Amino acid sequence: MSKLLFIPILVCLFGTFPVQAKDTDRTRELREKMVTEQIAARGVQDKYVLDAMRAVPRHLFIPEWGERLAYEDRPLPIGYGQTMSQPYIVAYMTEMAKVKPDSRVLEIGAGSGYQAAVLAQIVKHAYTIEVIPQLAQQAEVRLHNAGYNNVSVKQADGYYGWAEHAPFDAIIVTAAAPHIPPPLIEQLKDGGRMIIPVGTSYMVQMLVLVTKVGSEVRTQNLLPVRFVPLTRG
Ligand code: SAH
Repeated sequence: MSKLLFIPILVCLFGTFPVQAKDTDRTRELREKMVTEQIAARGVQDKYVLDAMRAVPRHLFIPEWGERLAYEDRPLPIGYGQTMSQPYIVAYMTEMAKVKPDSRVLEIGAGSGYQAAVLAQIVKHAYTIEVIPQLAQQAEVRLHNAGYNNVSVKQADGYYGWAEHAPFDAIIVTAAAPHIPPPLIEQLKDGGRMIIPVGTSYMVQMLVLVTKVGSEVRTQNLLPVRFVPLTRG
């Protein structure tokens, strides 16, 4: 086979299959800068969150060609029309959910698996649900390759939560819902916190903090955001 053909074929093959996870001095340096300039500078203070953002190799959750972009202050496409939030939003949502090492936490919208890895860096075991089968499978592989074996990934419609593992101290929803799904409120512990973008694709969405105190459910608007929609599987 001519060299002309052989090299593009090799590039295609390596681009298709997951490669060995690697973190380098360069990627660690980029993360340190990301935490200082994008996250701490905007007011995130929770030590668990800052340490997790420093530890999780974000570049392992996007296609290899995007490594350079992984630590930039922006959301990134992850395929199937979906996007991974910018690093600050991931950190902010995790801080507002008050995730601690002993928290039982559920994410809706696994996507790339990155937010789940941030949670898994803090808690003993994290749960995440993804509606698109290919993304659910890919998130599982990426989490495993990055060394996170403490995440359960389920392919399902996250609107209904994950009753078998409820109640949760924290629920983080990473796709915008037209209303707060009642099953998710039910699966929140007394004293639990849910962070969810509420609104439609065509309007400004609001990131909402939902807290449950006894039988009372309180909501608080946090900030305007833009997320992909929560679709019904
Ligand atoms: N948290 C992800 C990014 C999420 S993008 C990350 O860190 O990469 C939003 C994700 O929510 C998409 O992957 C989308 O497919 C998923 N999603 C949309 N509707 C859903 C539903 N009803 N249940 C579960 N996942 C859903």
